[in-house]
Amino acid sequence: MRWDHLGETPPTPADTALFGMDAVTTRTFDTPEFRGITFHEVRARTILNRVPGASRMPFEWTVNPYRGCTHACVYCFARKTHSYLDLDTGLGFDSQIVVKVNAAELLTRQLASRRWQGAHIAMGTNVDCYQRAEGRYRLMPGILTALRDRANPFSILTKGTLILRDLELLTQAAEVTEVGVSVSVGFTDEELWRTIEPGTPSPHRRLDVVRALGEHGIGCGVLMAPVVPFLGDSPEQLRATVRAIAEAGAVSVTPLVLHLRPGAREWFMSWLARHHPRLVGRYERMYADGAYAPTWYQRRITRQVHELAAEFGIGPARRETPRHLPRPAPAPPAGDPEQLTLL
Ligand code: SF4
Repeated sequence: MRWDHLGETPPTPADTALFGMDAVTTRTFDTPEFRGITFHEVRARTILNRVPGASRMPFEWTVNPYRGCTHACVYCFARKTHSYLDLDTGLGFDSQIVVKVNAAELLTRQLASRRWQGAHIAMGTNVDCYQRAEGRYRLMPGILTALRDRANPFSILTKGTLILRDLELLTQAAEVTEVGVSVSVGFTDEELWRTIEPGTPSPHRRLDVVRALGEHGIGCGVLMAPVVPFLGDSPEQLRATVRAIAEAGAVSVTPLVLHLRPGAREWFMSWLARHHPRLVGRYERMYADGAYAPTWYQRRITRQVHELAAEFGIGPARRETPRHLPRPAPAPPAGDPEQLTLL
């Protein structure tokens, strides 16, 4: 692959103040997949983030090599985190990507510290660590190598097929520690996918990832997220999605209904007004009390998905025994811009 480097801008004091990092270089690339995207390469000062309120979470530590995400999911609730960098939470989130170029080097050093106790590390909890930028920057191989070499348990949640590039490293890591991988697939409706998750690999390609990981002994769960009210929640759509997840050999399926937090809510509602104007009123009523759909609705979706999962026999019992099961899908913590959980 050829990478045409169009522009490189040295850091200004304003950049450094904005990103709070030691150095910032801004780059653009003239290849179709990166046209219109600006990368802010930074040298971060730390890479291990402690999760606030970790008692509510299945993990205490996260690693996030990127901020912003070219997968550009309209509903992404990490959008708000871009405002902490004074960047736009709409198109800016999709096209202004912060890259912590020293992520692997930092992690290697921090894991070697005598103070590090070898706790589980979750990745993909803020933005997708296998978004398209990873094809260019290749930060994950160094990160996985550091984790493998220290036999440090970890989990990854992604919508990116690029994770298969690192299959060998994942397999090696799974030989020495606990490795969990979950893929996010909220629906299999192609038309909905093209408009609401325009930068992601198709749901069926993501399910191919589940299949491939399973074939290599890495049991993979599916976070069925988001289930999109009125657009992706009909009985037929739920059935088709759960059936496809089962056929891919997922070891678990965890449904999660769309939530609309500030930052994501405005962007999603403007998308809805353009693509499905007749639904605007119904959404305003459904999300009138805040970011979450009503409990009755969430319970109904969860019950339907669990019934379908039972019908299609999703779970480790119908597969060859996987070496490692995925950890439970993370629940969204509040507050910290580095910690917001992705879908
Ligand atoms: S939901 Fe995940 S994959 Fe989609 S834009 Fe957000 S971080 Fe990226």
